[in-house]
Amino acid sequence: MVSRPITTASNTGEVAPRRTRATIGGMLPADNHVHSQFSWDTGANASMEKTCSRAVELGLPAVAFTEHVDFTEWGAHDNPPADGRGVDDGTAAIALRDRVAPLDVEGYLASIERCRARFPELRILSGIEAGEPHHFKSSVAAVLKQAQFDRVLGSLHSVVHAGRLVYTERVFAHRPADAVVRDYFADLVRLVEDSDVFQVLAHCDYPRRYWPARQAGEYREADYEEEYRTVFRALAGSDRALELHTSSPLASATLMRWWYEEGGGAVSFGSDAHVPLRVGALFDVAVDIVAAAGFRPGRDEYDFWRR
Ligand SMILES: [Zn+2]
Ligand SMILES: [Zn+2]
Repeated sequence: MVSRPITTASNTGEVAPRRTRATIGGMLPADNHVHSQFSWDTGANASMEKTCSRAVELGLPAVAFTEHVDFTEWGAHDNPPADGRGVDDGTAAIALRDRVAPLDVEGYLASIERCRARFPELRILSGIEAGEPHHFKSSVAAVLKQAQFDRVLGSLHSVVHAGRLVYTERVFAHRPADAVVRDYFADLVRLVEDSDVFQVLAHCDYPRRYWPARQAGEYREADYEEEYRTVFRALAGSDRALELHTSSPLASATLMRWWYEEGGGAVSFGSDAHVPLRVGALFDVAVDIVAAAGFRPGRDEYDFWRR
């Protein structure tokens, strides 16, 4: 964890990114992981337009609206877990994926076009965040066939619990924290090896957001070094980017160095903003972490950072 203070609060009390020498001409990197009103899990404050406006205000060169693509049932040619029964655990104690809704691709693309016209100074990429793309292979492929998406993120939010895919945060209540995280990493390796639809692996240690520190003590990356490295080797071998995620607790420079040492070639920055105010959040700190691990801005300000 990096414990440096975040500087430069504006007089509205909002946190504004500080420019660092590591950026291109003082420019922050692209935010490659942002959600708008087209994601099923966003609330009333989500707005593609307001997010673009905020990105321009911060001086971000680009944003990618990577809307959630998740499923509530298995498609005909998907790959349920070997002992799998259903997508959710189906008990009253744990809510179903009841809010999950299909992406309105047409409405989404129209909104992207409107924003591109309104914010010509900002590069606006289309995209999706594919949840468990190795399990939902054909379902994800069917969405990708509907349009040309600029950015595809691969995400694991669920692990197999009692034969069903259940959101990681809900599994912590039923199993030891350490076992949940080890299961998560094991399935993440399968995701990387079995799915080639995505170019960026999002939040590679997603469960740490929900880690039950009161019972399990502090989350320590070092306890899972071998698991991280195994995922990174698989990802580096397929020449894809690792995301530095700024909504979860920030990764350490040591963790990003493991990515570098395992052959990682590219880093993507992602705020995972679900409201306009969060776009580009903590990018000022994030660039220092990534630079400390040995990565540098890529060929232009829209590119990933590279070794
Ligand atoms: Zn996610
Ligand atoms: Zn996301």
